Amino acid sequence: MIKLKPSVEKLQAYFVNDIPYRVKLDANEGSNYLLQDGFKIENFQPNLYPDSDSRVLREKMAVYYGCRAENIMVGNGSSEMINMVINAFCDKGEKVMSFVPSFSMYQTYCDLCGAEYIGIPSEKDFTQNIDKLIKEATENKTKIVILCNPNNPTGFMYTRTEVIKLLENVKDSLIILDEAYVDFSENSVVDLVDNYENLIVMRTLSKAFGLAGLRVGAMIAKEETIKYVWKVKVPYNINILSQYAAEQALDNIERVKSYIEGVKKLRQELSFTLRKLDFTVYESGANFIFVKAPVENLFEKLMDCGVLIRKFNYGGEVFNRITIGTKEENEILVEEIKSIMGGNQ
Ligand SMILES: *Cc1c(COP(=O)(O)O)cnc(C)c1O
Repeated sequence: MIKLKPSVEKLQAYFVNDIPYRVKLDANEGSNYLLQDGFKIENFQPNLYPDSDSRVLREKMAVYYGCRAENIMVGNGSSEMINMVINAFCDKGEKVMSFVPSFSMYQTYCDLCGAEYIGIPSEKDFTQNIDKLIKEATENKTKIVILCNPNNPTGFMYTRTEVIKLLENVKDSLIILDEAYVDFSENSVVDLVDNYENLIVMRTLSKAFGLAGLRVGAMIAKEETIKYVWKVKVPYNINILSQYAAEQALDNIERVKSYIEGVKKLRQELSFTLRKLDFTVYESGANFIFVKAPVENLFEKLMDCGVLIRKFNYGGEVFNRITIGTKEENEILVEEIKSIMGGNQ
């Protein structure tokens, strides 16, 4: 076999569970509520390349995000654009910083292009100290700081004021705000992209819109930054079907808003129920909760009854991340947990 380059050879492929399941609460996907009846296609011309500028889609996104179409670039999921930006800005050895634990793909993208990834440890209770990040970013001459807000997998959320403090104090690094889950809280800084030229906000239709399968994300920044990063955009990266579907989904913002309110309510209810069952439930601003279970091997035991959640090991301790499902899905989860805990006593 022809050898991969050394920096790539040592990487692990992203692992995705393909276990049979009844209830899937492991990947923070939303419900299929916007396009459950499919979507309309008018003037379908699959022989032609899609609009590489995604003009119509960007106009509709601009309404939802409260910016101009010129502030937006769309990508094949926001992950594609996080990769793109790291690649475009970082030469071998340049530094990228984020808190740990956070989204594991940040490190992978750094490894792919030879950037040096620095993880700043969160506190013991998984809160994150913004002053520590500001200090480390400045001292390390960091090229890119990535802040996942709310954070995956812990759900920890910064207030706008704290994010602004980071923006005010770190002007020499590119700051990527990964706001994949911000629709489920109120702390977006997307309206500030014109005020900070080093700010890039990443949003996605994969979570709050329940459209992970379409692979559509948005990168929002000052117009000059968008033009600059456009140089590395893969032409025609959003296929014609995804563009159609995303455009129609964005015509239903009122439904998106009520879906989000529903998820927040269910998040509160599930947190309350699990706390009563002696779980440690961390405060979450996202469509999932991060928990410490009072029983061992919860992940494995739930998997045996067809309920998928995620398991993390931090400092020798096991934690779980549970996506907020529908009312019915959450009920099945709770029932299975109760029967596992009953069988334990
Ligand atoms: C889900 C997620 C994304 C976005 O994923 P895409 O489907 O590629 O848009 C980005 N960051 C985090 C932290 C996520 O959890």
